[in-house]
Amino acid sequence: MQKLEQLYEGKAKKVFATDDPALVIVSYKDDATAFDGRKKGTIAGKGVVNNRMSNMMMQLLEKEGVPTHFIRELSDRETLVKKVEIVPLEVIVRNVSAGSFAKRYGVEEGIPFAEPTLEFSYKNDELHDPLINAYHARALNLATKEEIAQIERYAFKVNEVLKAYFLTLGVRLIDFKLEFGRTKDGKIVLADEISPDTCRFWDAATGEKLDKDRFRRDLGGVEEAYREIFARVTAKK
Ligand code: ADP
Ligand code: UDP
Repeated sequence: MQKLEQLYEGKAKKVFATDDPALVIVSYKDDATAFDGRKKGTIAGKGVVNNRMSNMMMQLLEKEGVPTHFIRELSDRETLVKKVEIVPLEVIVRNVSAGSFAKRYGVEEGIPFAEPTLEFSYKNDELHDPLINAYHARALNLATKEEIAQIERYAFKVNEVLKAYFLTLGVRLIDFKLEFGRTKDGKIVLADEISPDTCRFWDAATGEKLDKDRFRRDLGGVEEAYREIFARVTAKK
């Protein structure tokens, strides 16, 4: 397998073609952005943590029956994945109020929900990823009705698996964002990443934030938080 030209450079990752048209290489950077790209910085070692942690989560989820894009970890920062057509929806699952949910609905952060919630944002930089519902996603033809239903089922399953897993590490999974894609044969698989960039993790005992909110909110100890959550995940293995 050969690494060929760069296909895309995003805010946190680069994507490279390979000599197999069905596969791409994802390369994780230390670059961090927040607030729709208005805040920029670097988090030393983040690319390694996110790559390796995301791969461990994808493998756990595969075992639990959620198909993913993961093929093989190539190095600390690079992974071979199935090339997919990304469904332009950010799928956000929440167990506890935080972030934009708390702000939008005027509630405190930290209120546990009776049941997990799910919302979609339309992945569109020009429009700044607006909130969208399943009917609107259909109207815009972003996915079929069956694909949306499948995405919702997988997203809740991911939540059940990861919530239970992180609790064994003394970590509460507050909320997270997923992206799904279509493989060549039209199947929906989990893509992109699962990392402290895309999840909120709170220490179960102290409530300490172990995720990107430390960067977003200038809380300090950003690198330490990424190292701490990664240490817990790798100690478990
Ligand atoms: P952004 O585009 O939001 O700045 P990243 O820096 O994380 O995000 O860039 C990675 C890009 O690769 C994202 O647009 C993501 O949707 C896309 N992507 C993730 N997994 C795959 C995959 N398996 N195949 C093709 N594209 C993918
Ligand atoms: N999230 C993400 N990318 C985004 C928006 C949100 O990974 O573009 C994640 C975020 O890390 C959190 C969850 O999705 O775990 C819910 O984020 P929220 O809607 O509360 O937005 P935020 O407060 O981050 O603006």
